[in-house]
Amino acid sequence: MVSLLICLTHPEQLENMIKKKENRKSFLQMVRNYIKPVIMGIFMAVLSFITACNGSQQKSDGKTISLAEQIMKAEAPVFNPDSAYYFIEKQVEFGPRVPNTTAHSQCAWYLMQSLGNYTTHLDVQEAKVRAYDGTVLNIKNIIGSFNTKTKDRILLCAHWDTRPFADHDPDPANHFTPIPGANDGASGVGVLLEIARQISLNPINIGIDIILFDAEDYGEHQSLQARTGDYWALGAQYWAKNPHINNYNARFGILLDMVGASDAVFTMEATSMYYAPDIMKKVWDISHQIRFGSYFSYKRTNAVVDDHTYINEIANIPTIDIIHYGENSYTGFFEHWHTVNDNMDVIDKNTLNAVGQTVLTFIYLENMKLDKAQSDS
Ligand SMILES: [Zn+2]
Repeated sequence: MVSLLICLTHPEQLENMIKKKENRKSFLQMVRNYIKPVIMGIFMAVLSFITACNGSQQKSDGKTISLAEQIMKAEAPVFNPDSAYYFIEKQVEFGPRVPNTTAHSQCAWYLMQSLGNYTTHLDVQEAKVRAYDGTVLNIKNIIGSFNTKTKDRILLCAHWDTRPFADHDPDPANHFTPIPGANDGASGVGVLLEIARQISLNPINIGIDIILFDAEDYGEHQSLQARTGDYWALGAQYWAKNPHINNYNARFGILLDMVGASDAVFTMEATSMYYAPDIMKKVWDISHQIRFGSYFSYKRTNAVVDDHTYINEIANIPTIDIIHYGENSYTGFFEHWHTVNDNMDVIDKNTLNAVGQTVLTFIYLENMKLDKAQSDS
């Protein structure tokens, strides 16, 4: 039972809690400013060495510019995994975020306030959708944007709802118990909220839309042993058919799903590689360049039905899924997937940092490209 809504979602309190971390950071920032030139020099030398070793080169204007140099020039801010963790913890404290429940409504409010604080524009798309068992679900897709007038846009997304049943729990008694959804639900949203916060502190010119999709995880109960229709990713399906803006378009999208477990490995999932292979390779190359390669495997894996399926197929926006999926467990997902143990104990700040810093670096690289194109024209 949770009755934390008002105190937890008050924007001033949220800001104060984050500011405490910022204050600590400001001293570090001061020290960092003194030693920055030295560190930057060493960092550049190390990156050049790595680049020379792996031969990663890209051509631009006839000159050869290494990915390492581009990353240095893009000046992406430093992702704060403590902050991402905090955003995950807050969501989990509401209890399972199953559509039509009080915890779901309370968390929606919290997410609207948080995302609205950091982005410059907030849209909330409310709808009714029908689940596989006939239940009508009241859903909210929560959409925060930066630079709404810019045509060159990147879509970032994650689902914020949680599965209504732990139908993969080792104990059959839990098969109709809702999951806490720390990793499967809250982790992607936590990383995106921290990315939004970093962009708000380090403004860019490229258009960014952050969509928190509802009702991703209300698909058929495992006991049915089959899909009876398109009942996963109901929020994303609704949005893909009814975008929040007429003729909405983004150059590409990145979906985050289950990005917080300590043993996470993100493989090259088939639907992502079918629709957006270039984006996926770029993101993976960046992760390896900035020393998070151990999380991002170039191994190809089977397609997963997730929000990106419908963004690719219905909205026609090339979208990749950064998802913990491979062959390390019998389901392919993380150990506690769709069990009552998907709680805060699963969440590892190192994994949040690897994903958050990689995506943030990618965004600032794309922004640098846009700035350059505009200054050239
Ligand atoms: Zn799930």
